[in-house]
Amino acid sequence: MSEPKTCPSGRCREGAILLGVVGPTGRLGYLSPAIRIDADFVESTPSAEQRFRFAEPCVQAACSQWSGSQCGLAERLVTGRAPKDYQLPDCSIRGTCRWHAEHGADACYVCPLVITDNRAGAANASIDWDAADSSTVMQPSADRA
Ligand code: SF4
Repeated sequence: MSEPKTCPSGRCREGAILLGVVGPTGRLGYLSPAIRIDADFVESTPSAEQRFRFAEPCVQAACSQWSGSQCGLAERLVTGRAPKDYQLPDCSIRGTCRWHAEHGADACYVCPLVITDNRAGAANASIDWDAADSSTVMQPSADRA
C-alpha cells in the first residue's frame, strides 16, 4: 500500500496545514515549517481560500477530482515543464505532496499560481496566469481551462 499523500489544494478546515499566503501579485508565498490551523482561524478568516492555500490529506476516490488512479486536478493544471534550473519553492509538504509525487518539479512550477475554489462545494482550482512572472513560460492549452 502506498504512503498517504497530501492534497495541496485543500479546504480551510480545522487541522488543515496552512500551505501559504497569496501575495499581492497573486503568487503563493509558501510557509515552512508546516502550521496547522485551528477552529479560531477558520471562524475568523472570511474568504480564506482566496487569500491562503491549505493542504489536507488526499482522500483519493472520495474526491470528485480523483481520476481513478491519480489526481485529475493536477493532471489538468500541470501544463508545462519546469526549466532545469527551476528552484523548487520551500513548501512544507513536499515529502507527501500528491501533485509532486505524480508530476515532480512540473507540479511545483505551476503550484504557486493555483487558486483553490471550493465555492460550489466541490474541490476545484484554477491558475491565475496574471500572477505568472517573466520567468514563467507556461501557457494554458485550450482544453485545460
Ligand atoms: S506541488 Fe510542489 S510546491 Fe506545491 S505543494 Fe506540492 S510539493 Fe509543494
